Amino acid sequence: MPLKPRRNLLMPLLALAAQLAGCGSSNPYFQADQAHHRPGGFQNRYTPFEPKSLADFLRWQWQAWRAGLPPAPQQPTPSQPADLNFILANARAGRAMVPAVTWIGHATALVQAGGLNMLTDPVFSERASPLGFLGPRCAQPPGLSPAQLPHIDLVLVSHNHYDHLDEASVLSLAAQAGGSPLFVVPLGLKPWLAERGIAHVVELDWWQSHKLGDTEVMLTPAQHWSGRGLHDRLATLWGGFAVLQPDFHWFYSGDTGYSRDFADIRQHLASRQGDAGFDLALLPVGAYEPRWFMATQHVNPDEAVTMHRDLGARRSLGVHWGTFNLTDEALDQPPRDLAAARRAQGVADEAFFVLAIGQTRRLPPRQAR
Ligand code: ZN
Ligand code: ZN
Repeated sequence: MPLKPRRNLLMPLLALAAQLAGCGSSNPYFQADQAHHRPGGFQNRYTPFEPKSLADFLRWQWQAWRAGLPPAPQQPTPSQPADLNFILANARAGRAMVPAVTWIGHATALVQAGGLNMLTDPVFSERASPLGFLGPRCAQPPGLSPAQLPHIDLVLVSHNHYDHLDEASVLSLAAQAGGSPLFVVPLGLKPWLAERGIAHVVELDWWQSHKLGDTEVMLTPAQHWSGRGLHDRLATLWGGFAVLQPDFHWFYSGDTGYSRDFADIRQHLASRQGDAGFDLALLPVGAYEPRWFMATQHVNPDEAVTMHRDLGARRSLGVHWGTFNLTDEALDQPPRDLAAARRAQGVADEAFFVLAIGQTRRLPPRQAR
């Protein structure tokens, strides 16, 4: 019998506290001609973030408690030993690098392409929380430990929620042998990293790019929000990343609700991408129930499949599931709902896949279409 995971209230409580407490400071990045800038922070392009009320929060928790949600998973999240021989050899292959993605857990993935080893939202700690002894504990250890990673060139941080920006993990990466990776972050996170002694950082507004050799990293809009504490709601920006390399174009959305942003991103990049679109998209498929509470900030698998189509992704990997109990669906529900969504929208199984934690998928380079 699988163990019933204990419902953990810390993350929802933190999220609620951040939502209720409001934003106390002024936005030093504010530009009046930028529609998503506010004097006190940032906002979404289509559906403004509206903090949920205490009454809504209590309704969610009461209903979930009464219904015994989330249900126990039928099986643990699949996990397998990482193929370190391949990953480490590929890491050193330079121009001969085979495009490949390894799921480390939750929103953390190692993408190897164009001679670079890149990490999304690195979280290697046991709990996604400001308190080491409380908060959602990961159901599976990460597929690669920091010590097993190849030398990381680039770290992409989508926003400052605890399940995406983990202090111990970024500190350990900054201290890696051979020097800190470049951290590319949304506006407002550079000072947070600088306070922790991490200086090799570029912060971007939506649609701004940074070039690292022949790799272009663009911060793209998403429909979400930010906040880690009591007084920083919406104070720093959130987003996703388009990474354009000569032989591989990939995308990571970060956390997002469904919006027209993804069709806009495809349109924005159309002249650069042609019909080929993205070779790979990393899209969230977990943390979506109940819809009345979550829909504006987290897509469900059906919406993730629509995003995959809006973006013109050739293949997508479902992330942000199976690792932390954050919401009301069972930890193993997302792949089942994803399979149903693929069938409903006529998307092939191999076009939007999930991996076991630790598993690597090699991908064809852009020229091979
Ligand atoms: Zn988030
Ligand atoms: Zn998240």
